[in-house]
Amino acid sequence: MPNTMKAHAVGPCSCPYCGRKVEAMSGGESVPRDGDVAICINCHGVQVLEGGTLRQMAGAEFNKLMDEGGPLRQQFLQTAHALMLLDRMKHLRS
Ligand SMILES: [Zn+2]
Repeated sequence: MPNTMKAHAVGPCSCPYCGRKVEAMSGGESVPRDGDVAICINCHGVQVLEGGTLRQMAGAEFNKLMDEGGPLRQQFLQTAHALMLLDRMKHLRS
């Protein structure tokens, strides 16, 4: 799989779950826009970019995302996979 993960500056905002400051989002080639799905690198909370800030994703929104498929679902799954790999690497270092 080609590496197309790029970081884009966002904010100032913070994770709506753990409060960690968010300065950038990474994912695809395009600049993040309203409706994009993000996962906090600190707490793994699933969130949505809206009006330049992040909010918690509702359970119904998550179910809809998984059921409908499309590019946002693909983006979410790629990000979740990347976080899983990062967690595994942290485990290997300890
Ligand atoms: Zn968080």
